[in-house]
Amino acid sequence: MTQGGSDAGPSRSSTAHDESVRLLLIGPPGSGKGTQGKRLAQHYGVEHISAGDLLRHEVETKSDIGRRASDYMEQGELVPDGLVYDLVMPKVLAAGKANGYVLDGFPRSVGQAEECRPVLDKDDVAVRLAVHLDAIPDDLMPRLLDRARSEGRFDDTPEVIRARLDVFNDEVEPLLDFYRDRGLLVLVDATGAPDHVWAQLQVAVDGRQPRTDLRSG
Ligand code: AMP
Repeated sequence: MTQGGSDAGPSRSSTAHDESVRLLLIGPPGSGKGTQGKRLAQHYGVEHISAGDLLRHEVETKSDIGRRASDYMEQGELVPDGLVYDLVMPKVLAAGKANGYVLDGFPRSVGQAEECRPVLDKDDVAVRLAVHLDAIPDDLMPRLLDRARSEGRFDDTPEVIRARLDVFNDEVEPLLDFYRDRGLLVLVDATGAPDHVWAQLQVAVDGRQPRTDLRSG
């Protein structure tokens, strides 16, 4: 059931990443991106790269990047592109050259997508499929407040959630167009139960990834 992991063995050629699973999940806060992203990554044996998780780690460890990013995150604003690139791009490149990746939250604007595409293309590791997790806006706030109670994320307060949803809505259409124009966008209905969304995701991804990527086990 998984594929492309380190146990794929030495027979993988140096150009094996040409066919690897390289996904981007695009969805509003509360759409299940994180949960589904982890599940996809585990299923396909690739790395889950969440820009938000990486940034929160930097904030928690009080690193230089974390100190510079925290004000933006606390307000629900996007962290400046330069900081995000420095943190995330090396991981995307490395994962792309290894087995592949599921990106969660990066690129998050068309500017980021335009800037990173040529860099990834140069190593033949650009996003091969962007999945739009389409949610009902009114569902998101209650879900996020619920998560706030269970996880205690510092940016899950009602005001910051509202700001994050606004930022997402401002950025999403040009970002979707970027991938749609390249024939790389699929839409998945994210309104159902997690297992239902998961089943649809697998169909969407398997239908667009070369079957050579999939192991039978
Ligand atoms: P998330 O975990 O995806 O909800 O992201 C949490 C916060 O991290 C966002 O509200 C932003 O402040 C910041 N962030 C995450 N990804 C990016 C990105 N690609 N560009 C800029 N800021 C980001």
